Amino acid sequence: MEDISDCEVVTGDDKVQDMLFKLIVIGEPSVGKSCMLVRAVKNEFKDEYEVTIGAEFNSLYFQIAGKKVQLQVWDTAGMERFRSIIKVFFNGSHAAFMVYDITRKDTFDKLDGWLTMLQESASPDVRVFLIGNKKDEASARQVTYEMGKEYAEQRKLLGFMETSAKTGEGIIPSFQHMAKSLFTEHKGSLPSKDDPKSGDSLSKLRTTAPKKKGCC
Ligand code: GDP
Ligand code: MG
Repeated sequence: MEDISDCEVVTGDDKVQDMLFKLIVIGEPSVGKSCMLVRAVKNEFKDEYEVTIGAEFNSLYFQIAGKKVQLQVWDTAGMERFRSIIKVFFNGSHAAFMVYDITRKDTFDKLDGWLTMLQESASPDVRVFLIGNKKDEASARQVTYEMGKEYAEQRKLLGFMETSAKTGEGIIPSFQHMAKSLFTEHKGSLPSKDDPKSGDSLSKLRTTAPKKKGCC
């Protein structure tokens, strides 16, 4: 995986960035997708289970090699039962966090289905980072670290990490890895001072966000 020591979390503004990437967070209900985002954005954790209606996005910003990278992260919360609607949100995504719960093997066994749906609905080359969440629940573990790592390697995913939205462990680093990987992959498209025409390629990195409205 990428070295993230030069990938710093910074405060941001939706209008000012050098690169913008749209990410979606997918996986079975109750694996901790919403909690991961809340931890990353607000540094909070709630124990109650709240099914979010509709879709929301939050942005995280990183400074990498003098460039400001925005990750616009879409939570597909509350829509797990509406697979056809979720697919609309896959549209235009550069990357995804695919999350399972280390204490529930059934959520790990469903990953292939998520991956297929993502590749069909987003794009065949969408970048996927695998997350095994609820690492703090060590005594209830059903999926070993090695199983997650091997899955990510076999499917040639961007990377794999175990996290805990509850303690915060691994959450920010997983976003840093995502930001750094996307930056590394796309930095060749950034405009350089010597090439005024290359501004066109930067605009390709900016996606039009789907309309922010509830769906169900
Ligand atoms: P989602 O359906 O995937 O968005 O899942 P949520 O984020 O709503 O979380 C589902 C439940 O798991 C909630 O009761 C959370 O409090 C709990 N949860 C989420 N992340 C963690 C974690 O890292 N550790 C533990 N122990 N519980 C978690
Ligand atoms: Mg949710």
